[in-house]
Amino acid sequence: MYRNTKNVPYYVFGRGAFAQLGDLLRPRREHGGPAVFFLDHFFRGHEVEGRLPLEKGDQVHYVDSSEEPEVTRIDAFTAAVRAAAPVADGVPPCCVIGIGGGAALDTAKAVANLLTNPGRAEDYQGWELVRHPAVYKIGVPTLSGTGAECSRTCVLTNIPKRLKLGMNSDYTMYDQLLLDPELTRTVPRDQYFFTGMDTFMHCIETLHGSFRDAIVDALSVRAVDMCAEIFLSDDMMSDDNREKMMIASYVGGMAAGNVGVVHPLSAGLGVALHVHHGLANCLALNVLEDIYPEAHRQFRAMLERQGVALPEGICRDLSPEQYEELYAGSIVHEKPLTNALGPDFRKILTRENVLERFRRM
Ligand code: ZN
Repeated sequence: MYRNTKNVPYYVFGRGAFAQLGDLLRPRREHGGPAVFFLDHFFRGHEVEGRLPLEKGDQVHYVDSSEEPEVTRIDAFTAAVRAAAPVADGVPPCCVIGIGGGAALDTAKAVANLLTNPGRAEDYQGWELVRHPAVYKIGVPTLSGTGAECSRTCVLTNIPKRLKLGMNSDYTMYDQLLLDPELTRTVPRDQYFFTGMDTFMHCIETLHGSFRDAIVDALSVRAVDMCAEIFLSDDMMSDDNREKMMIASYVGGMAAGNVGVVHPLSAGLGVALHVHHGLANCLALNVLEDIYPEAHRQFRAMLERQGVALPEGICRDLSPEQYEELYAGSIVHEKPLTNALGPDFRKILTRENVLERFRRM
């Protein structure tokens, strides 16, 4: 059986496109109900906040992007949207708008699902569990690389259950994207690099896997080439390169799906030590030179060209329990590890092999 693949149906792309957000909202407003904005807290008081096309009754919620979205926070946001007038009087939102990096984009996706589906966020962590179409949603990325703008999931941590799993569903996808490279101008350099590298990782892992799809391969090859052009140039954050990175994230996001060894080790770091996804990926690839020799070489060259330093020693002097958590949080990802190394992946990634890699970080 071949997969029936959905893409985001509409996008507007171009420098300054953010000015069109009000136009995109106008047909939605004819349905009545407020527009509900989820804004990355980075933009609190920023000129971007001043340019939101707000009307009476609209809501603005700030997403703290220093932590990844957590299920109880999603439930709290959903309750806050429902409690505010006029939604509390039975008028559903006409649109949910996510503006920010992966955390803000994914928060908006998760809340939009919960506004039309009963229960709590954790009830929908998994595959094809969302029953009803979400509230219409517009995604406005302000950081490039995660592919959250076009993925069919929203990554959610569930701390009590020690689970990091999204709501994988076609309903989770945005209905409309607004891609404006001007919005990434003020991203801190290191964050720009580590997040951009997420696209590189998704695509090199896909291209080295055994679960393949010719269209995904074509998209991945192009996204990897664009990453090399950007990060091996003199200034990864020039106007042209920020525009190119926004395209690479979108193209690479459409290709993302079957990752390999980088993402499992990165997930271990995320669960055990709360290392941010983009940085954790880089730390992982840095110790996978035997499995991804070519990508590792390219990655080291990009780090050097951009003058970005990887933190060192983050796994030194951990307790045996923490090492165990790193190992368990990595090896649990059987599907990507099988994609990369085959069903006998445990013969290569023995406990000692995995722990030795973490100790080198
Ligand atoms: Zn990723």
